Amino acid sequence: MGLISWDIRIQGLVQGVGFRPFIYRIALANDIRGWVENNNEGVRIMAEARHENLTQFIADIRQLAPPASLINSIEVSEKAFDGYPDFNIRKSSSVSDAVTEVSPDIAVCSDCLSDMRTQAHRIAYPFINCTNCGPRFSIIKALPYDRHLTTMEPFVMCETCKQEYTNILDRRFHAQPVACLHCGPHYTMFRKGLDAPMNNHIVEQLSQYIDQGLIVALKGIGGYHFVCDALNEDAVALLRERKNREGKPMAVMTGSLEKARDYFQVSEQEAGLLLSWRRPIVLLNNRNPLAASVSKGLNSTGLVLPYMPIHFQLFELVKTEVIVLTSGNLSDEPVTISDALALEKLFEVADVVVSYNREIHNRTDDSVAMVINGKDRLIRRSRGWAPSPVNLQLNTEGIFAAGAELVNTFAIGKGSQAILSQHIGDLKNAETLAFYEESYQRFTALFRFQPGLVACDLHPDYLSSQFARSLGVETLEIQHHHAHIASCMAENGLDEQVIGIAFDGTGYGPDGTIWGGEFLTADLSSFQRSCYFDPVPLPGGDLVTAYPWRTAVSYLHKYMGPQANWNTLPFLSGIDPEELDLVLQALDRNLNCPLSSGAGRLFDAVAALTGLCTQTKFHAEAPMMLESIMAKGIKGKYLVEVIENRIVFRKMFYQLIKDIHANVDQAVISAKFHNTIVSIVLTIARKMNTESGCKKVVLSGGSFQNKYLLSVCEQLLSEQGFEVFSQSAVPSNDGGIALGQMAIAAKYLENKSI
Ligand code: ZN
Ligand code: ZN
Ligand code: FE
Repeated sequence: MGLISWDIRIQGLVQGVGFRPFIYRIALANDIRGWVENNNEGVRIMAEARHENLTQFIADIRQLAPPASLINSIEVSEKAFDGYPDFNIRKSSSVSDAVTEVSPDIAVCSDCLSDMRTQAHRIAYPFINCTNCGPRFSIIKALPYDRHLTTMEPFVMCETCKQEYTNILDRRFHAQPVACLHCGPHYTMFRKGLDAPMNNHIVEQLSQYIDQGLIVALKGIGGYHFVCDALNEDAVALLRERKNREGKPMAVMTGSLEKARDYFQVSEQEAGLLLSWRRPIVLLNNRNPLAASVSKGLNSTGLVLPYMPIHFQLFELVKTEVIVLTSGNLSDEPVTISDALALEKLFEVADVVVSYNREIHNRTDDSVAMVINGKDRLIRRSRGWAPSPVNLQLNTEGIFAAGAELVNTFAIGKGSQAILSQHIGDLKNAETLAFYEESYQRFTALFRFQPGLVACDLHPDYLSSQFARSLGVETLEIQHHHAHIASCMAENGLDEQVIGIAFDGTGYGPDGTIWGGEFLTADLSSFQRSCYFDPVPLPGGDLVTAYPWRTAVSYLHKYMGPQANWNTLPFLSGIDPEELDLVLQALDRNLNCPLSSGAGRLFDAVAALTGLCTQTKFHAEAPMMLESIMAKGIKGKYLVEVIENRIVFRKMFYQLIKDIHANVDQAVISAKFHNTIVSIVLTIARKMNTESGCKKVVLSGGSFQNKYLLSVCEQLLSEQGFEVFSQSAVPSNDGGIALGQMAIAAKYLENKSI
């Protein structure tokens, strides 16, 4: 009686987000028969009903889809009528199924927040969740994704929860972490010096402690945080002092987007990112000041909106409008996830520890992002993203990409996907290296991965490269900046020759020097160094990252000679003359002075020369300060020369020093310097285009986290007819290196098989 059959294919982010039970529910509601399954492309539905029901069904899919899903396309084709008796969810066995079963952690949804007020067994229950929200990756120990293989395993579901869990029409159908007041995890509060922990009225007490200026270690989804009043300078300064984290900016949280607008400038795009279910920290321009110690000297601050039920509860009671929410760790260690360790170590910083009795299995830091040129840009890809894969157009099966060293993530290849690990951190820290090795083992077990080919950085000493070689399979060593360019290419689906511009602090070059101001003619198979920043010696090697004045002295020594009158410049007034003398001697005799063309070092040198930042307290502080103070609307720039393949800064330094002597404002010098870098990018891109005819420019490397540099380069290159590609869902810093290594290794395998 007018029954027809539609084959519906949905693409987008539709797996691991409760999409199939959702389809089941709306199929029943619209009297549809057939089935739904996951496949490699997304979700496929066979639907049989009357035409008007099918039309309504499609409209419902679009309008009512789970919040964590994202529909890119719905394709419908008519099929021969089969006469299915009912509607069911088909188990699929596709390659990607195992992968997509592991969803990232999802911020609590608005339905659950309202259930916290109305459902008797969940009134004010802070571990509420449903198929649309709650912890995922952080609690998964093994696949299939079933409660007994998560850290919810010790909690036996009560009858009420079980009914919801087994009723396909319920929003908690197969929500593995489903829990309530009677059967789920709970918080416990420990106050330093008091032996009796508290189990009741924790949020009330917590909010009072924060308003009193105390520091709290609060267990989050993927690790502990330190929390305190972000408007109380004493509290924030004390947190800094105890955490030994002088200078490094801290993230903050407000109770709502409206409150956030009181303190920060928030564009619509930024608001969307802040409110997304992934709930990252978003870097925003400051509007009204917080306590000075939150983000000393920088014009932007990282803000995250509440994403756990307890965050929402806290903001109903706490008087302050902004709290600090920073990683709960000591110095460079990974963020603490163990409750025992929290009570032992975090009390060195916190007055109060608030814990809960569900274990965190996979550590995930808060992700960090910003918006540049209307696009979301990830800086740290972790909670909310990990371990969702990046799709490549190459076979990645069996490839392990070990990543870089300082901002490490790794990747494993399944099918045509790169599964990127969560943010791991600086492997030079022993605990972080242990976290890296443990995470590798866990990913291997979780995704049933067997390495057949290993890709690592060319740097002989990177601990990630050493780990890669220890696996005993064929190993490809990949140049750092080639990997940066390949990462951006992979993210943008490019597999051809491009003009690759990679700017960062440091990466090992095949000639044994340090690279980092690179113009590469590259594809996924190989690269050529077409142009590069004139290398300078780095007196003391790695020491220069903490002492940018050393790099400044090196540039001056190189371009003006040791006898010039530059040693009376004001930036040297705070430097110990003996140390300066040692640096000059090292330069004269070329002792422990590795050569570097790193763009980051050039930014360091300029920041030091202007007196803005001669010593740093955290990674990339000098370039961040330089960007932060930049004057707007300045058109001027400095002169540089291109000699053979080198971009030589001699003239720039002479002009810069002239400006300093003429008391030109730091902010203006910074703007002219930034304009100089933009102009170099344009000039060299045109030169390379003339030589190769290539019109595609790929921008990557940590220096392109500079908002001004990236946005202006993108705009001007586009205006000149270039097609410009930059990173968005994968960081352009070393957190994106693993993806680039993966793409190059996959291409290597493809070339080998031809
Ligand atoms: Zn929910
Ligand atoms: Zn229950
Ligand atoms: Fe790098």
